[in-house]
Amino acid sequence: MIVMKFGGTSVESAAAIERVASIVRSVEERRPVVVVSAMGKTTNKLLAIASAAIHGKREEYIRQIHDLRDYHSREARLVVPLALRAELDRTLDDHFQELTELVKGLALLGELTPRSIDAISSYGERLSSYVVTLAFRHFGMKAEHVDSRHVVITDKRHTHAAPNFPETYARLSAVIPPLAKHSVVVMGGFIGSTEEGVTTTLGRGGSDYTAAIVGAGIGAEEIQIWTDVDGMLTADPTILPGGHRVKTISFAEAAELAYFGAKVLHPATVVPAIEKNIPVLILNSRRPEVPGTRIVSEAVPCGNVAKSIACKRKITLVNIHSTRMLMAHGFLHRIFEVFDRFETPVDMVATSEISVSLTIDNTGRIDDILAELQQFAEASVEKNQVIVCLVGDNIRYTPGVARRVFHAMDDINIRMISQGASLLNLSFVIAEADLLRTVSLLHEAFFSELDPAVFERSEAVHA
Ligand code: ASP
Ligand code: MG
Repeated sequence: MIVMKFGGTSVESAAAIERVASIVRSVEERRPVVVVSAMGKTTNKLLAIASAAIHGKREEYIRQIHDLRDYHSREARLVVPLALRAELDRTLDDHFQELTELVKGLALLGELTPRSIDAISSYGERLSSYVVTLAFRHFGMKAEHVDSRHVVITDKRHTHAAPNFPETYARLSAVIPPLAKHSVVVMGGFIGSTEEGVTTTLGRGGSDYTAAIVGAGIGAEEIQIWTDVDGMLTADPTILPGGHRVKTISFAEAAELAYFGAKVLHPATVVPAIEKNIPVLILNSRRPEVPGTRIVSEAVPCGNVAKSIACKRKITLVNIHSTRMLMAHGFLHRIFEVFDRFETPVDMVATSEISVSLTIDNTGRIDDILAELQQFAEASVEKNQVIVCLVGDNIRYTPGVARRVFHAMDDINIRMISQGASLLNLSFVIAEADLLRTVSLLHEAFFSELDPAVFERSEAVHA
């Protein structure tokens, strides 16, 4: 068995779903289990509907629900066999009816709880998985739909629920393999339910995680994440086009890249897969002939120091300064206690004798945090910063990497540096305004020469 996950853009239209069907059909003998995201931007639209409802914008949410139904119906009709049209219409009616009632309830209450957010956002994957199942039949496959909420069992932390792995694995291994023997199994990503059967979600972008959980639960030989990029690249294409494809990367490197903002993969995805030693492939559903990026559990021998440059944007730098810190103990503890109390994750940290710099990306509670810190230290904030991160297993074995980085970045002001925590990255903070130049300079310094065993040179020239 293999798990194949298709993201929102890969199932956004009838044409896209047809491409998915042909990709899946070409590997039918490998017994694919297909995990799909909501079609296109459906999750965002559902959240917009919920928000319109609690703000009393009745006309708006009615119209939005209507549009969403039209969209699903329009695209689905094109890929569903005539004989199944009536069933399709009935199912769409049922789902949108239910959704409308739910939304009206929210409008009455004027309040959106995490539990109701999950109830609403689950419709995207519930619908897409159903539509894709019918489409597969249309394109000549035997296909079975499995409601992920019956097999992915989570805790009650709505909007970012964590799976109960033993229970989930037990259900997956009981339910999926017998079906996969004779049919392509189709499931929605992102959604699950509590032991009591209340719908939950694994967090935005959670379908990759579902794919990994399913893969681990059924002991898949491979997990394929189909997206709209050719795989992992040496540079984030939204910042610097023309990066080269990384053919093979280690789990540790991929996790690091994912964490530092490479949108190709959800960071948590790798965890269940690592534990079961299942390779994960990143593939492009628009260009299925491209071999993508293979993520493997072991380090990959490579002639280059780095595999990729990752960036995490919209970072806020917090500088904390206190002469009382000199020779005192417990200072860091006090600082982190404040961030903990306001549930704000800290990403990078640098400390000196009397000051601490750290970065956060969630600034929701920053005013409270500053007020608390200012009780015992000077604290200030700088917005619009970026963490740039050079990632590669070899960084730990190669002397002089920092020198090469700083040499390449010559005149760019580095605000903060960190190396060592993970050994396979060297990260630093710069201002957003310096981002493009920084990435171009580093890319030239580290990827002008490429180990052909690990990289596929992109034809596009990067200056
Ligand atoms: N549909 C969900 C989202 O947009 C999950 C996913 O696409 O992975 O966040
Ligand atoms: Mg998505």
